Amino acid sequence: MRALLAAGADVVRLNAAHGLADVHAQHATLARETAAALGRVVGVLVDLPGPKMRTGPVVDDEIRLETASRLTLTSASVIGDAHRVSTTVPELARWVGPGDDIYLADGAIVLHVERVVDADVVCEVVRGGVLRSRKGMHVPRAESHVESFTEADAAALRMAIAIKADFIGLSFVRRPEDIEGVRARLPKRRNRPQLVAKIETAVALDHLPAIVGVADAVMVARGDLGIQVPARRVPLIQKEIIRFCNLAGKPVITATQMLESMTRSPLPTRAEVNDVANAVLDGTDALMLSEETAVGEYPADTVRTMSEVAEAAEAWPRARTTPQGATAALDDDRVAWAVAHASVQAAEDLGVAAIVCPTQSGTTARRVAAFRPAVPIAGISAQPDVLGQLCLIWGVRPLTAPAVEGEDGLRHAVKSARDCGLAHKGDLIAIVSASPGKRAGATDTVRIVRA
Ligand code: PEP
Repeated sequence: MRALLAAGADVVRLNAAHGLADVHAQHATLARETAAALGRVVGVLVDLPGPKMRTGPVVDDEIRLETASRLTLTSASVIGDAHRVSTTVPELARWVGPGDDIYLADGAIVLHVERVVDADVVCEVVRGGVLRSRKGMHVPRAESHVESFTEADAAALRMAIAIKADFIGLSFVRRPEDIEGVRARLPKRRNRPQLVAKIETAVALDHLPAIVGVADAVMVARGDLGIQVPARRVPLIQKEIIRFCNLAGKPVITATQMLESMTRSPLPTRAEVNDVANAVLDGTDALMLSEETAVGEYPADTVRTMSEVAEAAEAWPRARTTPQGATAALDDDRVAWAVAHASVQAAEDLGVAAIVCPTQSGTTARRVAAFRPAVPIAGISAQPDVLGQLCLIWGVRPLTAPAVEGEDGLRHAVKSARDCGLAHKGDLIAIVSASPGKRAGATDTVRIVRA
């Protein structure tokens, strides 16, 4: 964990589709304690399994399925082998029939259903490959049968709230209602995790504006998306989702197979390096690794590689984004967006060392970041949940310090920027905040001061 964080990881993802609740809790504690020991903050993202169908455990966690062999998918609880593998879908035999295709492991393995015998589905392996335990299973004809919020999701959500996750990833979101349903189950006050809508179904693409509107952040979940729509469309959809999120001022994560060859190799392919760089150039806020760090042989090297490629790409000159919130938000929000915009303009005109945002909820830092300024942004808060949530935001360094109001707050902000090396004595700093007594997010002030 120390090596992962030191290599540049800002957020750790715990995938509740795998593992036990207490192990996830231990991992979250390990990540947070290790980050604190490094003088850092780390965000914790818990992915709910969602209505994702999966295969079950397999012997030694990895089996090889040979092309043209026969494989039975069963609802019986078995440790899978090359002939028989269990699934998380007891009803599978009722939902598929001869001639249907079933895709395993992000489509790497393709099965063709030959016949159904009671609760077993006998398939020909049309394209073989390595199947690890609990991999995703995509069954086009079964999609509509699946509940959007399952008992497993409810259990994972309880775990995520108990460990004070900063983000909750919602898998297989289809409509905005899927997000609103989970939001209604969150705590009403502090430690309200942010909801990340994973875009990985074809249906979600039809509802993209509404989904981005209600989600706190979005993930381009290319693994499953590339099965639901032709893989050749995924690069274009990625650009569209990212552009949409940039305009809406919502953080967006690009995920899956970014450096996949590094699961087994110390070096990435040229194509992977290009993919990571292009996602940054597209405007992604965050890049995600999956197997590379979950089961890979070179986890820290992979994070370091990703971080170095991202930093090189960030140095490329880019056009300024103008989020629509800056023009379309209402009332106080309109003021807050305009002040965030003004702070970025002033910061760049003056060449300030940093834009420093003492923030009650993180919103001020998020709005400033949405304009993609060319100078670092610091988000200052004493609240662990606010700081954890800032870890995902483009260009924002979360700093632990009291977000005091008024002139004292100003002095604290300057001191924090100096203490962490973002500014040196005599540098100009832009301080962006809400006036004393204002509600969270009601940013109305930008002041330029000397450190
Ligand atoms: C994906 O499908 O790209 C994805 C991120 O989903 P998972 O949670 O299965 O990794």
